[in-house]
Amino acid sequence: MKYVDEFREAGVIRKAAEEIRRLADPERQYRFMEVCGGHTHAIYRFGLKDLLPSNIELIHGPGCPVCVLPMGRIDDAVSIARDPNVIFTAFGDMMRVPGRDGSPLEHKARGMDVRTVYSPADTLKLAQKNPDRHVLFFAIGFETTAPSTALTLMRAKSLGLRNFSVFCNHVTIIPAIRAILDSPDMRIDAFIGPGHVSTVIGCRPYEWIAKNERKPIVVSGFEPVDILQAIVMLLRQLKAGEPKVENQYTRVVPWEGNRSALKAMAEVFELRPYFEWRGMGFISQSALRIRSSYAQWNAEERFPVPGVRVTDPKAAQCGEVLKGALKPAQCKLFGKECTPEHPIGALMVSSEGSCAAYYNYEHRKTALTSIGASA
Ligand code: SF4
Repeated sequence: MKYVDEFREAGVIRKAAEEIRRLADPERQYRFMEVCGGHTHAIYRFGLKDLLPSNIELIHGPGCPVCVLPMGRIDDAVSIARDPNVIFTAFGDMMRVPGRDGSPLEHKARGMDVRTVYSPADTLKLAQKNPDRHVLFFAIGFETTAPSTALTLMRAKSLGLRNFSVFCNHVTIIPAIRAILDSPDMRIDAFIGPGHVSTVIGCRPYEWIAKNERKPIVVSGFEPVDILQAIVMLLRQLKAGEPKVENQYTRVVPWEGNRSALKAMAEVFELRPYFEWRGMGFISQSALRIRSSYAQWNAEERFPVPGVRVTDPKAAQCGEVLKGALKPAQCKLFGKECTPEHPIGALMVSSEGSCAAYYNYEHRKTALTSIGASA
């Protein structure tokens, strides 16, 4: 298959769904975690859940970097941007994520210079255009986006750009999967592996999941046929009793990853000993920090950072949802106090957040059905 329509073709989808029903043992329950928030959105957007037999449960994983960011990191960056000389820049996904005193967009409404960028490279142009001001880039993402931040820092260094720095929040996927597997109340039979992250890290870093934990993992693309095929592959592995790492997304993910991207990351970043994940606590070696050779472009070295720690509102259950222990609609605030218009947690506004996926595709559908309209 070559074109996107082919990955959404009804006949192929029907065949994959039939194969899933044929392979699934009616006597057992299956719990598959889709690690990536992009998969969660595809599953609800295309109604894939409705094609699965009821004994296959999909658990939503922590693969939304905006969602796992603790509120205090936003407040820390905002404290730097309170200086009127600073221009705060971030991707659009971050703009509506609440910190203790509001989201970056709310700070903008109060007068802070907050700008959305589409690429970290845009921030360099902004710094060059504004030599008398300081441009701060709020960098976020898994290994998917870390290489572009690394290349931007390398470029800033080669240009000798002095009025630019990065507030680094890049996290790494493997320690998060390990934390989930170590969690005593979590039973996962297999993983739908993250497609985007794997374009950079490849498939090898997942081998311990199959070897040591005896859990199958299939790296998957994001189209309906991709996800259903990945489920077929997981069921085949479980049936054979031979857990391994497989790559369904071969058209994009090289088994060994992207060597150039990994090299750029190694040049600029090193692992932080610990980093706090929202709802999951501190996880060792789970995030990247900027190496001392790039200290001049590291916002945490250049500016005083208060190190704010903010606990989520008591009733908010973002942590349980992120770990897959609760479905979004089981959070007490879902659709009531917490909506996309008035989010309490980032899961409700991020393009990869599972609460946003439920709200936009399930909750709205149910609401429309209940008033007799067609979704
Ligand atoms: S509904 Fe809101 S508060 Fe509850 S888990 Fe989702 S984002 Fe967090």
